[in-house]
Amino acid sequence: MASLSSRRDFILRSGKAGLGLYVGSTVLSSCSSAKVLTGKTNTGFQQTPLPYSYNALNEAIDATTMEIHYTKHAAGYATNLQAAAKNENVDMTKPLEEVLRRISKYSTAMRNNGGGHYNHELFWKSMSPKNDQKPSGKLAAAIDESFGSIDTFKTQFSDAGKNRFGSGWAWLIVDGDKKLRIGSTANQDNPLMDVAEIKGFPLLGLDVWEHAYYLRYQNKRPDYIANWWKVVNWDFIQDRYQSLT
Ligand code: MN
Repeated sequence: MASLSSRRDFILRSGKAGLGLYVGSTVLSSCSSAKVLTGKTNTGFQQTPLPYSYNALNEAIDATTMEIHYTKHAAGYATNLQAAAKNENVDMTKPLEEVLRRISKYSTAMRNNGGGHYNHELFWKSMSPKNDQKPSGKLAAAIDESFGSIDTFKTQFSDAGKNRFGSGWAWLIVDGDKKLRIGSTANQDNPLMDVAEIKGFPLLGLDVWEHAYYLRYQNKRPDYIANWWKVVNWDFIQDRYQSLT
């Protein structure tokens, strides 16, 4: 318990420290013939500080859910990922993305926890206390072109989350032809993985595991999704889109 409470204190103290994103070189290889896009930021193997307080997203997600989700679920994925990486001789100074793109070569523990860690690191940064942001610029134009309108996009993305049976994620991705696409993955898989149902660079991911919403929404996943749009950090998603190479 001592270590848990110190961890929590550390997280609370460091919550204002910023996003803690790694910025560095991105090298990747892929067995896919399609071009694989890369972003300017990479994900490390350690959990980074939550970029806001637990109650900051209360418009959509309550503080208790945020705290348990970050300090127990997501922290667990990070810890178990590090253990798997140690077991499988993975160099943890390199981007996690390199492992995810070749995840079929690794264990189930690496797949579940590597995906779990990556997905949550993206999820926290994809939300903001600045409510009701809207996409603008090149991303807004790409959404209009791909889906007709932002409202149609939101409906299709929401449906991907609602229709994911069991636990998983809904995604907005950029595929190898730089086209926006919507899809979903089961469990903690994500579109970077060579085993994923939908492949590409994840711009925006929505956690539809029950642990993400059950305290406030119980079985009403659609209500959680409808409210979640209020806290989407479109500035972050837009930067992510525009940084793709
Ligand atoms: Mn989760």
